[in-house]
Amino acid sequence: MKTYSSERGRDHGRNVIGDRVGCALGGSWLNSMTEKEMRRFVLMLVMLLIPLGCQRNQAGPATAKVSDGNIAVYFSPNGGCTDAIVKALDGAKSTLLVHAYSFTSAPIAKAVVDAHKRGVKVQVILDKSQRTEKYSSADFVAHAGIPTFIDEKHQIAHNKIMIIDGETVITGSFNFTKSAEEHNAENLLVIRSKDLAEKYTANWQAHAEHSVEYQGR
Ligand SMILES: [Zn+2]
Repeated sequence: MKTYSSERGRDHGRNVIGDRVGCALGGSWLNSMTEKEMRRFVLMLVMLLIPLGCQRNQAGPATAKVSDGNIAVYFSPNGGCTDAIVKALDGAKSTLLVHAYSFTSAPIAKAVVDAHKRGVKVQVILDKSQRTEKYSSADFVAHAGIPTFIDEKHQIAHNKIMIIDGETVITGSFNFTKSAEEHNAENLLVIRSKDLAEKYTANWQAHAEHSVEYQGR
């Protein structure tokens, strides 16, 4: 392996690169390269590595376009989260998918049942804790005839998601509870995006597949 000898700054860089790459490849042939050849070699190496980096990104998070560029955000306590959810539910026309950890908010449960009564196709998935939760709305929605399921596959099914008409996603830390509205520090996003709704719907369906039907107590 060629040892570093300081001649000029330009050669310094070349020799160091040559030695390092040469080491990496386990050969000394790189040391005989001219600077121009070395530049070409490095460029070629970069061109080969860029697609590898892109492939890694493809396995990263799903992305989605937001249709009108507006995302409404609400903060608890008493920041209008419950009202925003009820308003969005009152505007539901065709479908409503719910995936909730805790569901004890009376006004939200009423808005869900109201949507069902006006013909919106409502389906609800809840965490297993809602079987025994004292003020759970699980029974209220199940008794109203809404297909209700329990997702007991996870330690906790911690999602707080509503997907309305395949175009609006409601999510955030905000549980559908009175405490989340009045006492907790929470956030809630109302996002209008068919693209995003599609991804949330696919995820909702994946959970629905391993959930079990809940008839109510
Ligand atoms: Zn699940």
